[in-house]
Amino acid sequence: MKHKTFIASYYIKKLIFLLITLVLLLILSCSKNIYQESKKAYKKQAKTLGKSLRYIQPDSINTQAFNVIESQNFSLRKPNFIIIHHTDQESCEQTYRTFALQRTQVSSHYVICDDGTITQMLNDLLRGWHAGNSTWGNVTDLNSVSIGIELDNDGEEPFSYAQINNLTWLLKNLTEKYKIPKQNIIGHADIAPGRKVDPSALFPWKTLAESGYGIWYDETKLDSVVIDSAFNPKKALKFIGYNISNLENAIYSFKLHFNPSDVSKTLSEKDKKILILLEDEILTLK
Ligand SMILES: [Zn+2]
Repeated sequence: MKHKTFIASYYIKKLIFLLITLVLLLILSCSKNIYQESKKAYKKQAKTLGKSLRYIQPDSINTQAFNVIESQNFSLRKPNFIIIHHTDQESCEQTYRTFALQRTQVSSHYVICDDGTITQMLNDLLRGWHAGNSTWGNVTDLNSVSIGIELDNDGEEPFSYAQINNLTWLLKNLTEKYKIPKQNIIGHADIAPGRKVDPSALFPWKTLAESGYGIWYDETKLDSVVIDSAFNPKKALKFIGYNISNLENAIYSFKLHFNPSDVSKTLSEKDKKILILLEDEILTLK
């Protein structure tokens, strides 16, 4: 009797093992198909875009048609901004899948995992779909002028050393290659106040600025800054680049980036001083 029970449990265990293997194989083959399909669609779309560039479509303003005479002197436009995001997902694998599937209608040029692994998903010169409805200064279509970098992070955990280290390496390469100014490295929340809150308050903007990417204010001057009675925080936020159509949302995005220990929708004295110092910082850049 004991022997029979032993044999039965042996076969049950074997069956469970087989079932798990089958499910794993199924998941693996499914995800493989997603990436194969995405690769095929990428190639097809790039080919269609290439074809559309082969001719100048005679355009018109009002009713006046243009003549077409092709010049042979051109290349593709280059990105001038870098937008940093956190994925708000559980793993890099989940993000790859999200960006590979057509129905999600979102993508990014790069994904950096917790362990620092960098994966490129779009050619730098393509318009990714990571910024959405967004503005910065007078730029009203950030997707057209930027590279999107997604950091694998659920929004509540700290960013790992390996991830930030490799992000810095990537920023060095991209800014040199495309001559992107350091003040044009900003977050998704900066360009979409009220709509986006990534990267989270745990993102090390100050450390990044110390490496030369993004801007920061001179903290040593914080105590000596005098807030003039004519100081207008709305003007200062707009000068930096924030969309101030909803001031409270703009303040929230600004604090998320430049005063992450006190994120709220109201400006403190310290915030006002930071704004003044940031204006000074930007003026030295231009
Ligand atoms: Zn984002």
